[in-house]
Amino acid sequence: MISFFKPLLVFLFLVNLGNCYPQTAANNSQLIVLVNDTTFVNLKDYSRDFVYDMKYASEDNFLKSKVYDCAECYLRYKTVKALILANQRMMKKGYKIKLFDCYRPLDIQKRMWAIVPNPQYVANPSKGSIHNRGGAVDITLVDFDGKELNMGTSFDFFGKEASHDYPNFSKEIKNNRNLLRRIMAKEKFNSFDSEWWHYNLKAGLNDAVSNFKWECNF
Ligand SMILES: [Zn+2]
Repeated sequence: MISFFKPLLVFLFLVNLGNCYPQTAANNSQLIVLVNDTTFVNLKDYSRDFVYDMKYASEDNFLKSKVYDCAECYLRYKTVKALILANQRMMKKGYKIKLFDCYRPLDIQKRMWAIVPNPQYVANPSKGSIHNRGGAVDITLVDFDGKELNMGTSFDFFGKEASHDYPNFSKEIKNNRNLLRRIMAKEKFNSFDSEWWHYNLKAGLNDAVSNFKWECNF
């Protein structure tokens, strides 16, 4: 048996060698050429200055369910560029942006909708949200020790207290929310009235809903 398979194995090895090198070379050149404003990229490949707490890659979220296989923050390249500029402004003031959620593939939106089919809490996947378009982020601010600024409620708190207009907070909380909103507005992000943590890149509102999925390296 071995004498029969051995030539076959050698043949397969040679075929693999023949395929391998040109593919790698082609992939490298594609990586350089194909990144434009709407390409999905991993934020950490462009900046190491962010703090991450990707809630949907854990069970620490209102769904009580881990819906991402791994915690990565993918966004359209134009969203990444604007977010980095916003973070640089924050860092001059002694703070950093901490991320709770970024781009969300449409299949994940469907999974979330299956768990909580309520448009008050989850965007209906038939329409999709700006998260599905790669132009939205859920964020807060931390100091350089990683301590979160007090924003009055936790992320994904569903109640009127999460609204930017909620009047009954201390000056400190209002100032913290306003700082985040003011700096994000400078980089052309819209705030969302009922969720202090959610920001949409204006230039990303009309991009297509996507189901692009990133790879997880376990
Ligand atoms: Zn959001």
